[in-house]
Amino acid sequence: MNSAILTISGIKCDNPECNYRHDEVALNEYGEWLDRPCPDCGENLLTEADYNTVKIMVAMTQVANETAPANNVDEPIVEATLDMNGSGSIEVIDMKIKD
Ligand SMILES: [Zn+2]
Repeated sequence: MNSAILTISGIKCDNPECNYRHDEVALNEYGEWLDRPCPDCGENLLTEADYNTVKIMVAMTQVANETAPANNVDEPIVEATLDMNGSGSIEVIDMKIKD
């Protein structure tokens, strides 16, 4: 039983002027995308800094599940759209708490 569930997926180009994105990439496939060039513009698709941030988010979720009482979470409570630009920092685009 988990108290926290983290769902991360998709890759997008770090170039703000490029619209390349691949939404079907799963979290466990991110390692294969590290430092890969964008097929449209050549910019990096996943920097080491962003990959490390993702790994920290995964680790924080594991800690929450090991330390917090089980909550019987089976549906998302908070849904967020986050943007990463290669710097390792996260910009929150949209966040809502579900009823
Ligand atoms: Zn691109």
